[in-house]
Amino acid sequence: MPTPSPQPARTVRAALDRATSELTATGVPDARYDAEQLLAKALNEGMLLLRTQPERPLSVDEATRFDTLIRHRARREPLQHLLGNQPFRSLILKVTPATLIPRPETEELVDRALKVLETAPDAPRVLDLGTGTGCIALAIATEHPASRVTAVELSDTALGVAKANTDHYGLTGRVHLLHGDLYAPLPTADRFDLIISNPPYLTPGEWREAQPEVRDFEPRWALVGGEDGLSAYRRIFSGAPARLTEGGSVLVEIGWSQGEAVAAIARTAGFRQVDVFQDLAGRDRMVLATNLINGKG
Ligand code: GLN
Repeated sequence: MPTPSPQPARTVRAALDRATSELTATGVPDARYDAEQLLAKALNEGMLLLRTQPERPLSVDEATRFDTLIRHRARREPLQHLLGNQPFRSLILKVTPATLIPRPETEELVDRALKVLETAPDAPRVLDLGTGTGCIALAIATEHPASRVTAVELSDTALGVAKANTDHYGLTGRVHLLHGDLYAPLPTADRFDLIISNPPYLTPGEWREAQPEVRDFEPRWALVGGEDGLSAYRRIFSGAPARLTEGGSVLVEIGWSQGEAVAAIARTAGFRQVDVFQDLAGRDRMVLATNLINGKG
């Protein structure tokens, strides 16, 4: 039997070029970027090395690790699942298939929340419904150090991810995690200055049309909000009046076509001031409801 000739060592550049075309061929949107991120992970190195040492050869172990990661990504597993984390504002959050992967639009929701909290009491109480990774709750706790945050999550595996993130950032004393459905696990007397949520809001049809990364790898229950995509908003807004302090507000993320429908739900629940805000792409993305009828606010 002829001995196989040793494989020539692959360089960083060659590995990236090959992986980029493999990923492009399977429809991965930012193939080069993803290949770079995954190579950095396989090499346990930063991006700088990839850019400054394109001729560095890969060891056999490194090449094997990289090929495995690329194989998974080519099956359209989300980059964040393979990396195990996702940056969110000033945080780097653990993510697993148990939760929604935090999106840039939700970073904008936190921006809006911080603006709302500028006019709230000095040590505002915030309630995050359906916290997932804990992204909203942890970002607010970090960026508004006087705030006290309660975060609720129905899925216990997702809650485990939120807990890991909370522990990692040493926020256990400031972010109180509760297991349950929306308002159900809250102590009866608890009231909040801001109720915030990025609930499931896709319709089943939108979910079917979503990218494979979303449809096949993120939890459906975190994405689909009933037949019309609005069921979570009805429950959030109808339960809010009993949970708000005087002057308190509700702020939710919405799908780009849901502004009017969610605003109507908020008005029905008794909010007199309802505003729809856009994301950086100029699409409706948030609804803020304040000024509750009946003396509250
Ligand atoms: N923005 C997400 C998407 O389009 C949906 C997030 C959600 O339902 N809260 O995939």
